[in-house]
Amino acid sequence: MAKRVVIAGAGYGGVACAQHLQKHTRPDECEITVVNKLPYHSMQTQLHEIAAWSREPDEIVVPLEYLFDTRRVQIGVDEIDHVDLENRQLVVREGKPIAYDVLILGVGSVPEYFNIEGLAEYAMTLNSVQNAVKVRKAIYHALEMARENPDDPLWSTILIGGAGLTGVELAGELADNLPDLCERVGISPSKIRIVVVEAMQTVLPGMDPDLVSHAKQYLEEKGIQIYTGVPIARASTDLLELGDGTQLRSKTIIWTGGVRSNPILEASGFECAARGRAKVNEFLQAEGHEEVFVIGDCALTIGENGRPMPPTAQLAEQEGDWVGANVIRLLRHEALQSFHPDIVATVGSVGRHLGIALFKGGRKHFGGFAHFLKSGVNWQYWLRIGGLGFLFHQWFHRHWQQPLPLESTETEALQEVQA
Ligand SMILES: Cc1cc2nc3c(=O)[nH]c(=O)nc-3n(C[C@H](O)[C@H](O)[C@H](O)COP(=O)(O)OP(=O)(O)OC[C@H]3O[C@@H](n4cnc5c(N)ncnc54)[C@H](O)[C@@H]3O)c2cc1C
Repeated sequence: MAKRVVIAGAGYGGVACAQHLQKHTRPDECEITVVNKLPYHSMQTQLHEIAAWSREPDEIVVPLEYLFDTRRVQIGVDEIDHVDLENRQLVVREGKPIAYDVLILGVGSVPEYFNIEGLAEYAMTLNSVQNAVKVRKAIYHALEMARENPDDPLWSTILIGGAGLTGVELAGELADNLPDLCERVGISPSKIRIVVVEAMQTVLPGMDPDLVSHAKQYLEEKGIQIYTGVPIARASTDLLELGDGTQLRSKTIIWTGGVRSNPILEASGFECAARGRAKVNEFLQAEGHEEVFVIGDCALTIGENGRPMPPTAQLAEQEGDWVGANVIRLLRHEALQSFHPDIVATVGSVGRHLGIALFKGGRKHFGGFAHFLKSGVNWQYWLRIGGLGFLFHQWFHRHWQQPLPLESTETEALQEVQA
């Protein structure tokens, strides 16, 4: 009888896993079900582009039906509450529990606030398309309010907490778009201040020092004020207070300083470690539960240096693909194979036209070529998940858009932010 293989979460890991299974299994071997809380897959690595008005939200989402052969993969749109490990079922908010023989958990991450007082309440985050849209609307609204209240720093300051890759990508993208946005709103860009706060000693902590210094120099040239080596102590409605007593006032506070695994794992009783990530064996099976595989931001993956690997889309994709192959081995009673990540390069953007790239052999780039590489990674991803048709759709869609298509949303932005 066909086994019930359920994939929880249609993110980078879940999509890779489901597509692998769809391609390499027969219907008599397994029924494949993907459960996701939204009817689309979103490309999280481009969320900063939504927040900074470089792209429209529908450019980075793709409906799930487009990604799977629906004769082979059943799609369930529902929010998972927890995993009932004893009865081997997913408990969801709306529908009936979903039973599984093999479960793959790839439900991503949530912001990590490090117990900083007020941060969860008063800061916006960049961990979903909806939240990125909130950020973009709040930024636009702040510019309008700054035009009306020229001497009020509450509106003219945009605060970004965290200068890891996400914070730097957002700050750079926003700084590059600021002149266009300000022209639209009717305010001089010189009146707007972008401030980035990072607890570690540098921006992009852990990254190659040369790339760090290039990125910092570029951000500073763009007028961004950077505080490093000082943690955020407290947040309130319109204030970030830093560990050294500095008070930064703003109505627009965005937190990008860290993520932790989706709390579903801890709530379901999985053995978890740092930042709620589930402990897994070399085959990516959850400790004590061989029928459950954990992938992406939910899994604690130990790298070759014996240290936890940073959660990335690249890692999630590789894990999803690998687990797809291991599930097939499991179904066919073959020996499972150990997962060996192969992170070819770390790439990120610093603004609309520059980027950083660090290859595993140590080769590094800062500038236009690195930005091109980051775009290339996105194109390769679109091609991989949707084929040529999808790649062309994304390309042409992008070129048909105006660079900053504000008209449709500006009134709505105002109403929502004021509400
Ligand atoms: C702005 C930004 C920039 C980034 N840039 C890069 C980069 O350049 N390179 C890189 O490698 N990584 C980057 N990352 C990190 C990368 O996006 C994540 O590591 C990656 O998305 C993790 O993939 P995942 O499959 O584990 O989870 P996700 O891609 O987050 O997918 C999780 C899925 O689970 C679903 N889900 C969540 N909760 C539930 C629930 N309760 N019920 C049902 N479904 C649920 C979600 O809807 C989602 O579809 C970036 C992240 C951000 C935010």
